[in-house]
Amino acid sequence: MSENERRVAIIGAGMSGISCATRLLKNHIEATIFDKSRGPGGRMSTRRKGESRFDHGAQYFTASHGAFQQQIIEWEAAGWATEWAGRFADWKDGTLSERYPKRKRWVGSPRMSALCRGFSQELHVQYGVRIHRIKPFESQWILIDDKEQSYGPFDSVLVSCPGPQAAELLPMESHTHQLAKSLSYSPCWAVMAELESPINTPFDGIHFQDHPLGWAAKDSSKPQRTHGERWVLHGSAEWSQQHVDADPQVIIQKLTEAFGHIGTIEPHQCTAHRWLYALASPSNGPAAMYDRERHLGLFGDALSDPKVEGAWRSGQEMARLIVETT
Ligand SMILES: Cc1cc2nc3c(=O)[nH]c(=O)nc-3n(C[C@H](O)[C@H](O)[C@H](O)COP(=O)(O)OP(=O)(O)OC[C@H]3O[C@@H](n4cnc5c(N)ncnc54)[C@H](O)[C@@H]3O)c2cc1C
Repeated sequence: MSENERRVAIIGAGMSGISCATRLLKNHIEATIFDKSRGPGGRMSTRRKGESRFDHGAQYFTASHGAFQQQIIEWEAAGWATEWAGRFADWKDGTLSERYPKRKRWVGSPRMSALCRGFSQELHVQYGVRIHRIKPFESQWILIDDKEQSYGPFDSVLVSCPGPQAAELLPMESHTHQLAKSLSYSPCWAVMAELESPINTPFDGIHFQDHPLGWAAKDSSKPQRTHGERWVLHGSAEWSQQHVDADPQVIIQKLTEAFGHIGTIEPHQCTAHRWLYALASPSNGPAAMYDRERHLGLFGDALSDPKVEGAWRSGQEMARLIVETT
C-alpha cells in the first residue's frame, strides 16, 4: 500500500458492505471489511444443520433497477446466482391462490450465502471480529473489538450493520449516530424443518396474510440444493414482535401448528432462529450518508430499500461518495 493510499474500514460483510468494497476496489481503493460472523452474508446467510443447509434469512431477490439487473447477470455468469422458477401462492382467509411473478426471482447457488462468498472473493475480510468501539486516533480512527484488540488506523470508517448496532459504534455527537438511531426494524422468527416425507402442496413459496406466518418456503425446491425435503417458516413481522422473547421451542410449536393448514411438520424436525433486526422500515433519505468532516459513513438496506437490491444499491452509493471525496 502506498503512503498516499486511503485506508478504509467497513463494518459488516453483508450485501451492502460487500457491494461497497467491490465498487471501491474497482476504483483502486482496497477496503478492509470486519464482520463478527464466521462468513459473509449477514441476513443473506445460510444455516447449516448436519448435512442440511437452510436459507433462513433472505429467501430470494428481484431486480427493479437496470444496474442491479446487470449485476445479477454477472453473478449468474459466475455461477453464484440462479433463477428460482418455483410456484408461489398467497394464503388469505383460508384460501390459496397462485401468485404469478412480475419479475424473475433469484437465489444464491448452491445456497444463499454462496452468492456473498463468491462476490467477496477478491476482498479483504476479517471474520470473527466483533467491533466494539470506533476510537479517534489523531485525524484517523482505530477500531477496537470485543477482546480489546485494535485495528487500523483508518482514514474512513463505513458502518453497514443494522441501525441499533451501528448507533452503538458511531460517536454520539455525529450525524451518522443520529441517523443510525432513527432506523427501525421488525424482528422475524425463522423455523427450519427437515422432513422425512414431502408436504403435499404444488407450491414452493407461500405468502400469508393476517396470519402468524408471513412466509413459508420449500427451501429444497430452490435450484442446486441437496436432496431431501426442507421447509423454512417465517413468522409475520407483527407475530414475531409479539413473541420476540418467547422460548424457541414455543415458537416451533406455534408456527408448525399455524402451518398445519398446508401440511404436517413435527416440532422435533425443527430448529428456530430469531432475527432481531430482520426487516427495516424504509427511511426516506439518501441511500448512504458520509460525514466528510469526521470521515464516517453509514449505509445498509435501511437507507435504501429493505431488500437485497436495496442493500446492494446502498453499498454502491456509499462507495460513490467515498470515491468522490478522494
Ligand atoms: C428473515 C428475513 C427474510 C428476508 N427476506 C428477504 C427476501 O426474500 N428478499 C429480499 O430481497 N430481502 C430479504 N430480506 C432482507 C435482506 O436480507 C436484507 O435487506 C439484506 O441482506 C441486508 O444487507 P445489509 O448488508 O444491509 O445488512 P446485513 O446483512 O444485516 O449485514 C450487516 C453485517 O454486519 C455485521 N455486524 C453487525 N454488527 C457488527 C459488529 N459490531 N462488528 C462486526 N460486524 C458486525 C453482521 O454480522 C452482518 O453480517 C430478509 C431478511 C430477513 C432477516
